[in-house]
Amino acid sequence: MAFESLSGKLQEVFKKLRGKGKLSEKDIKDAMREVKVALLEADVNFKVVKDFINAVTEKALGQEVMESLTPAQQVIKIVNEELTSLMGSTQSWLNLGNKIPAVIMMVGLQGSGKTTACGKLANLLKKQGKNPMLVACDVIRPAAIKQLQVVGSNVNVPVFTMGDKTNPVDIAKASIDYAKSHNMDVVIIDTAGRLHIDDELMEELINIKKVVNPDEILLVVDAMTGQDAVNVASSFNERLDITGVILTKLDGDTRGGAALSIKAVTQKPIKYIGTGEKLSDIEPFYPDRMASRILGMGDVLTLIEKAQAAIDEKKALEMGQKLLTKQFTLDDFLEQLQSLKNMGPLDQLLGMIPGMSKNMLKGIDISEKDLKRVEAIIQSMTKEERQNPSIINGSRKKRIAKGSGTTIQQVNSLLKQFEETKKMMKKFADFDKDIKKGKLKL
Ligand code: GDP
Repeated sequence: MAFESLSGKLQEVFKKLRGKGKLSEKDIKDAMREVKVALLEADVNFKVVKDFINAVTEKALGQEVMESLTPAQQVIKIVNEELTSLMGSTQSWLNLGNKIPAVIMMVGLQGSGKTTACGKLANLLKKQGKNPMLVACDVIRPAAIKQLQVVGSNVNVPVFTMGDKTNPVDIAKASIDYAKSHNMDVVIIDTAGRLHIDDELMEELINIKKVVNPDEILLVVDAMTGQDAVNVASSFNERLDITGVILTKLDGDTRGGAALSIKAVTQKPIKYIGTGEKLSDIEPFYPDRMASRILGMGDVLTLIEKAQAAIDEKKALEMGQKLLTKQFTLDDFLEQLQSLKNMGPLDQLLGMIPGMSKNMLKGIDISEKDLKRVEAIIQSMTKEERQNPSIINGSRKKRIAKGSGTTIQQVNSLLKQFEETKKMMKKFADFDKDIKKGKLKL
């Protein structure tokens, strides 16, 4: 998960602050020095770090003492606000203008995830009731057209292509006419990339821009490339005056610097983030949610949205109710695992739960194979055992293992996972209660 190291370091700094009652100027300055190192190590742009630290220090030293917060909480609050503002404060929606079709021009270097992002965006727009079309303007990379066609067919969106012998500018122009006459309301143009920025590429992109007059020029950059991503964003922005950025591969082990620097350096917002290779792995970029994720305060809103998409709401309510009345059983656990699997990789979800550490769910693996095994084990239990796992003693375990074709260790490990999940869900339910009581603000 992106930001893991930065997040851990910042939480260490704040832990130290929490240990102190009143904060002196020196306490704050020392803490800010550590925050600075953590940000630089996360590959955040040097100037951005400097401005950020100055802003936070100034506010932390000059602030009025608020009775409702401890001094440490006040510092965390300021850091949270400044991180949010660094990333653009509010979420930036797509601006599709008034003309039909709306035109989105996708640009970026090779390998950044541009073609994938075209498919993800088309998928998203389709879900919003639009009628998008993809346009293959990358005539340079050998398999690019085919790849876009595959992506298009996966999300059930038509792909406009004129092969690789036509000039991309002419293809782009023709695609708009085609969209008009076929009731397509959004055109997403996949342009060529290069390994590095070069003039020929920029000329081509500028010419396409001239003929299609795009509503959005979205630059796709790879978060894993850190500061390079920021430099790429600056160069594209200078030449093309982009309207926003899609930051891909945030599911990877990136240190996060690009996400924190791009807006401050280019003044252009990150509009979406890519969180995996699947065409559904795209999320709007919410600076405030991302800031609280980085600070280990969790991203409960995104988690709830994901949960709502994966689990039907009535079931979720029932589960919540069961947890509160401590009736969560192994049958529920099985159902829960199946829903979790639909929500996406566990480590990503974990980062969104406040105070949740990876260790809490260590060993919970929900691959297809494991799920089948879990299913077999639970189905080999009696109804009574499923309702009340504490009665499962040694001889029962032996019987269950035999019945499900597994080992006693596997039965043990499942029971342990069940207890861990129960604990995790309890924590989540408590957090939810705190929010409702107004004890915690998101
Ligand atoms: P393009 O050359 O810019 O068109 O890049 P592609 O769309 O072909 O993507 C390059 C590689 O990155 C492919 O293997 C994609 O599956 C992968 N990729 C794209 N977006 C993401 C993402 O958000 N997360 C991860 N993990 N991989 C991604």
